[in-house]
Amino acid sequence: MKFEEYHYERPNLEHLKETFQQAIEGFQTATDLQEALNAMDTINQLRFDFNTMASLAYIRHSLDVNDTFYDEEKTFFDQHNPQFAQLNNLYYQALVASPLKAELAKHKGDLLFKKAELSLKTFKPDIMADLQEENKLSSEFNKLMASAEIEFEGEKRNLSQMGPFAQHKDRDMRKRASKATSAWLETHEETLDHIYDQLVNVRTKIAKTLGYDNFIELAYTRWGRSDYGPKDIAQFRQQILDYVVPLNTELNEKKRKRLNLEKLYHYDLSLNFASGNPTPKGGKDWMVEQASIMYQEMSKETDEFFTFMKERNLLDLEAKKGKRGGGYCTFIANYGSPYIFSNFNGTLGDVDVLTHEAGHAFQMYQSRHHDVPEYRASSQDIMEIHSMSMEFFAWPWMELFFKEDTEKYKYTHLTKALNLLAYTSLLDAFQHDVYENPSWTPEERKARFKVLGKQFFPYRTYDDDPYLERGNAWQSIMHIFAIPFYMIDYGLAQISALQYWAEAREDRDTAWQSYLTLCQAGGSDSFLGLLKLANRRNPFEQGSIQDIIQDVAAYLDAIDDTRL
Ligand code: ZN
Repeated sequence: MKFEEYHYERPNLEHLKETFQQAIEGFQTATDLQEALNAMDTINQLRFDFNTMASLAYIRHSLDVNDTFYDEEKTFFDQHNPQFAQLNNLYYQALVASPLKAELAKHKGDLLFKKAELSLKTFKPDIMADLQEENKLSSEFNKLMASAEIEFEGEKRNLSQMGPFAQHKDRDMRKRASKATSAWLETHEETLDHIYDQLVNVRTKIAKTLGYDNFIELAYTRWGRSDYGPKDIAQFRQQILDYVVPLNTELNEKKRKRLNLEKLYHYDLSLNFASGNPTPKGGKDWMVEQASIMYQEMSKETDEFFTFMKERNLLDLEAKKGKRGGGYCTFIANYGSPYIFSNFNGTLGDVDVLTHEAGHAFQMYQSRHHDVPEYRASSQDIMEIHSMSMEFFAWPWMELFFKEDTEKYKYTHLTKALNLLAYTSLLDAFQHDVYENPSWTPEERKARFKVLGKQFFPYRTYDDDPYLERGNAWQSIMHIFAIPFYMIDYGLAQISALQYWAEAREDRDTAWQSYLTLCQAGGSDSFLGLLKLANRRNPFEQGSIQDIIQDVAAYLDAIDDTRL
């Protein structure tokens, strides 16, 4: 069966509510274990059914935003998701209150109950209006960013279309592109300050209504972080300052020499080589062919997975008229199908779709056997290990995509990984300070961002750009506005991914087996529990980062970058 034949039908909400509530009642009044387990199965199937239809509507709408049928269907889900969330909430309440909890935990694992408890701590009916306000403000930010029209090189361009110019070989082009983007953002500086101010306020209010001291604790609960807290993360950031930032500073100096520039400005940082950044050497169909060879040779599991994706048309990769921008990977529960959506643009990012997004999809495929939906997906700190590690497991096949640029690609990939560690730590430190001090004015926030920016990127200079120099470089970042405290998950995951990179070079089979175990475990354990299961080091532990960074530094050092 192909994706096009997957059956869509709008859920009958009244009927769903009735059967859902009946099943919850059945669960609550169950007199023995089997009865309770049966009720759980019924509830989970209802959740799979609803999510399947929601995914199909979402995907088909994003494939053609002009399709009026799926436009209406998507609107239906946007409007009714809160009601469905409320049903889930009732189920979670019943779970944690169940007299059979201990016995159920023996069958389904403790974690389900912990997850339910955490989820309940993020919601009370009293915060409904404030949650809506939070969503509204996030959408305001997204809309403003999507509305960007920057006159550049004879055309009006949006922010993502400005991306390729930021890494252009021609320095003047990079500089002008950066200035044009800053100029647009500067005209909206006050609006962005205002939106952020309101977001910080409403989030703080929600947290206090729920009984938290500030929003930070609530954010950790929202992300399902059950076994580490802000102190651990602070230690993580300190390790990045100690071991990664000095290396990045050194690498940046090497780049300055490589690019033959007297001084590197912020607009020089996205270009890695005087001859230009590495690019894939073919179009979409060609790239899918290379990916097929890669996954076929990589392992029998990846071969089966990628064949499944292709045979069922579960990849939609190239930009098309009417297609939404961006990219994502999602899962269609009742068909056991991951789905990858992207808009290829001829850059290195296209290969990332076939490795990073495919890594997410591979994990979803490997976890589909879990009958508890909560165990099919882990928290994001683990999910990004699935994707980022696949990028590294794919290394032996990068020649297929990059040909003569392969060495450049590998060098870029590792330096980008190091950069990401500093970048995510900076944004995380900033958010901790902001939400710890909710009464700060926009100016105070910017002053703090400048100080932190100097710590994590001592070599970055904005002295020719007054807007960025004022401490505004966070203003265009969606994560800061829409998904607070998410960023650091990429940093945590990167450490484990780099460990796979190092291990795979020594003993590929062991590294791959561990990765497969991690993917198959899905979300059936906590962050630290899953790291232990897969034999990954705890990134909060002193030394864990220093060791892996030494390996990366040694590898990069052995490359004569001046000939790249
Ligand atoms: Zn990802």
